[in-house]
Amino acid sequence: MTLQINNLKSSIEGKEILKGINLKLKEGKVYVIMGPNGSGKSTLANILMGNPTYKIDSGEIILKDQDISNMKADERAKLGMFLSFQYPQEISGVTLSNFLRTAYNSLKEKKISILEFRKLLKEKAEQLGVNEDFLARYLNEGFSGGEKKKSEILQLLVLNPKLAILDETDSGLDIDALKTIASGIKAFASSSPDKTIIIITHYKRILDYLDIDKVFIMKDGLIVKSGGKDLVDEIDSNGYDKMWTTHGLKPRASDDVKNH
Ligand code: ADP
Ligand code: MG
Repeated sequence: MTLQINNLKSSIEGKEILKGINLKLKEGKVYVIMGPNGSGKSTLANILMGNPTYKIDSGEIILKDQDISNMKADERAKLGMFLSFQYPQEISGVTLSNFLRTAYNSLKEKKISILEFRKLLKEKAEQLGVNEDFLARYLNEGFSGGEKKKSEILQLLVLNPKLAILDETDSGLDIDALKTIASGIKAFASSSPDKTIIIITHYKRILDYLDIDKVFIMKDGLIVKSGGKDLVDEIDSNGYDKMWTTHGLKPRASDDVKNH
């Protein structure tokens, strides 16, 4: 699904966070957004999904010829957009399985029976090596970091959107969990040729398991550089500060957070 972002600006409590983002994403591609803490990656993800906390000051978001800038989050989800959560919430008394079925039914025109849903969920859970006991647990209650991320990817596979934005889905994972998450993303990417994926990450390691098409670097609310996988390698070996110097970019305005 093509997504075009034109001169997108956004502020929170009077502070400008996104300062004019321009992006053009094509369907069937895997994109990566990297950048230091506080550069605006999650803000961009939330704005794309229509999180009401974030307001657009100017600019527009065009999804497949349709201006979705003023659309509510649930409408965007119905159009096939999906955002994983950086800090998934605990919901007491709702099992993962029920949560996923409710989410599925609220998105799809055609409702699914409990039996059909079980079949779908079983198939996707098996793909991710998730067992029945896990599906019966209350959402995120006592989930380990890895289990939370797995449940997010399970949600991705079950909801089967067209455009998936994965915000730090790879943070805090051990190597086995990372491989599982990467295989889930791969399964999603290859399930149909029209999937578009945006991976927001700090780490090279998940990208070693995925075929990526293009990398964007964000800094102080702007996309300051784009390129191929070599950009990821460059950041991984040298860090951001070195990258700014190498590419003739100014140091960060707010240099309170050191790169890592
Ligand atoms: P990143 O995901 O790249 O680390 P964020 O988009 O989370 O960056 O944050 C960008 C800037 O916006 C930071 O300075 C952050 O403090 C600020 N910010 C983000 N969300 C909020 C919010 N809900 N309220 C206030 N400030 C916010
Ligand atoms: Mg973030």
